[in-house]
Amino acid sequence: MAPVTDTLQRPMRDLRISVTDRCNFRCTYCMPKEVFGPGYRFVPRDQLLSFEEIVSLVRVFAERGVSKVRLTGGEPLLRKDVEKLVGMISAVGGIEDLTLTTNGSLLARRAAALAAAGLNRVTVSLDALDDTTFKAMNDVGFPVAAVLEAIDTAAEAGLGPVKVNCVVKRGANEHAVADLATHFRGSGHIVRFIEYMDVGSTNGWRLDEVVPAAEIIDAIDAIHPLEPLPANYPGEVASRFRYRDGQGEIGVIASVTKPFCGSCTRARVSAEGVLYTCLFASTGTSLRDVIRAGGDVGGAVDAVWKRRDDRYSEIRSSHTRSPVPVEMSYIGG
Ligand code: SF4
Repeated sequence: MAPVTDTLQRPMRDLRISVTDRCNFRCTYCMPKEVFGPGYRFVPRDQLLSFEEIVSLVRVFAERGVSKVRLTGGEPLLRKDVEKLVGMISAVGGIEDLTLTTNGSLLARRAAALAAAGLNRVTVSLDALDDTTFKAMNDVGFPVAAVLEAIDTAAEAGLGPVKVNCVVKRGANEHAVADLATHFRGSGHIVRFIEYMDVGSTNGWRLDEVVPAAEIIDAIDAIHPLEPLPANYPGEVASRFRYRDGQGEIGVIASVTKPFCGSCTRARVSAEGVLYTCLFASTGTSLRDVIRAGGDVGGAVDAVWKRRDDRYSEIRSSHTRSPVPVEMSYIGG
């Protein structure tokens, strides 16, 4: 089947599937406690896509050119038996890269089973190396040491090199940039520094709290000289830099100051089976309802992608803001 392209000739290559909107962290830039408190109504379990439904969707997307699947959340390891889902997806033809983004809290115990089930790699979020800052950002008092142990265990299980994601927010953790870069130099793992984004509508985002990628690079280059690297593949989200002394590489994801919508090949499906064509979208299309009605899922996906024209980050300003963009914890980042 010929790859489907959107109105900007962008194909679908990456499918991000959120398997739950629940999380055991309350990161202030994603799931602030004030909003996602005890009374918050998460997606009811019977509204979640079943594993069989998720796999049927992966097949449909693989037929249309998707070769990379990323499992996300909330926190995907909160979904019961997610190793079983990994095994089912890894058997789908055409899927060359199966990865998962996690906060690492449950990873140390699950890494070996995930790798055995067919997971290729993991991305672990870690916003600081000092407990004071990290606990303030995850807002549940989770310690750094446990995440570092999870990263080591994942690497031992063959899920490395691990990508370590750090969201940089001015006034919160800009000092952590140098700490994280220095800590992971020579480890083989790749730290990706992410500009703080106006995702969803609950994190109180302000432009003056964004630390631009250029400033992040300068801060690292001042202590560990860097040089740019070419992208690994078209549409790669992170800009890559290597340490001139050969001690590895880092990445920066600059959605605010250096948007990359022109090469965005990412489709996103929420835990209840709604297809979104942009991280900053406010509306989507329910594929679950099409599946459960025995309808033409492939046709529905084609129709949505062919009319896609998203490039929010390139035109980001007050007047282009979606009425109420979906929350990142719901759409899976
Ligand atoms: S803003 Fe939307 S279109 Fe642009 S890169 Fe992000 S997800 Fe893709």
